[in-house]
Amino acid sequence: MHRGRRGARRRVERARLMSVLQIPAMANAHSHAFHRALRGRTQQGTGSFWTWREQMYDLAARLTPDLYFELARAVYAEMVAGGIGAVGEFHYVHHQADGTPYDDPNEMGRALLAAADEVGIRIRLLDTCYLTAGIGQPPAGVQRRFSDGHAEAWAERVAAFDDPRVGAAIHSVRAVPREQMGTVAALGGPVHVHLSEQPAENEACVAAYGVTPTRVLAEEGVLGPRTTLVHATHLTDADVRLIGDSGAQVCLCPTTERDLADGLGHGGDLRAAGTRICLGSDSHAVVDLFEEMRGVEMHDRLRTGVRGHWSAAALLETATVNGHASLGLQESGVVMIDPASPRTAGTGGDVHAAVFAATAADVTDVVIDGRTVFDGDHARVGRELEAAIEKVWA
Ligand SMILES: [Zn+2]
Repeated sequence: MHRGRRGARRRVERARLMSVLQIPAMANAHSHAFHRALRGRTQQGTGSFWTWREQMYDLAARLTPDLYFELARAVYAEMVAGGIGAVGEFHYVHHQADGTPYDDPNEMGRALLAAADEVGIRIRLLDTCYLTAGIGQPPAGVQRRFSDGHAEAWAERVAAFDDPRVGAAIHSVRAVPREQMGTVAALGGPVHVHLSEQPAENEACVAAYGVTPTRVLAEEGVLGPRTTLVHATHLTDADVRLIGDSGAQVCLCPTTERDLADGLGHGGDLRAAGTRICLGSDSHAVVDLFEEMRGVEMHDRLRTGVRGHWSAAALLETATVNGHASLGLQESGVVMIDPASPRTAGTGGDVHAAVFAATAADVTDVVIDGRTVFDGDHARVGRELEAAIEKVWA
């Protein structure tokens, strides 16, 4: 009886506190769900983005539709538990290991959609065109799983999806010949592209085409208000202006960019040029959009030696309004944050606490489209991830 009363008191107290720390559900605009199985396994020895990619390819070779479904379901549950109500899934593992399509050529993509449905997260499946290993080089090894051979074949496969949640992505200027980019962008709706994540991509592009990757996208008609450029880390001043004038968004992924030693991006410069910024957890070394929000400001501080580029409200906008706009999705939910956790206690319980102190672990309740999709049980999410990841590596 005594315990029951105390429990009730705690719930009332929690409800009172909850009413002061609530934010809209966030949008994770850039995800590769399967990368989550790499967490903690790529942190030994030295290396670069390119050595990490070899480890990622080992993992990509193991995926089956069933494994992919279970892993994505656990990863989307982790996202929801961190206050994320919508995800942009940049999906390129389309075919069987030797490149042969499955009986339903969209089986892998459908596994991702089904995983999102089970969890209750909104999804934009950014079906990714990935045709070449590098400019002018045929796909090799596991990349054969990614390739449809030609953008026309990609478009045919995507048309067969017949699902309004499917959007388009060009993997990068490395992976799609420039003359085929327009075919991908012609799908309509959001178009996402990895852009200038690494200096080597820029060098290869300049060597092959004589211009930067940003300029190639502009010349091929891919830069526009429907476009989201992921990373945009290594840009020239002219690239920044071109992106600003085009109305394209940029998706920064600060925790991945630091994990992969990509470099400090151009958040502040792009914003000054009129570009809207959204956020993604990309490789899922971390799935915590609170950390991504802070990362935007912190990386600008490291780059410039000056504090205070972004207000808490502006950062929250990147994770909410801008992320949904990038995915062409409506905002749809609310997130309750514990304002008296070890992280948030004493911070004032307002938007500053949410943006500059809270972590995904402080999320207590998430409601999307009127449905409670997370009830505060973070331990359950951990168990599901553990089981799904163990199966992938078995
Ligand atoms: Zn990515």
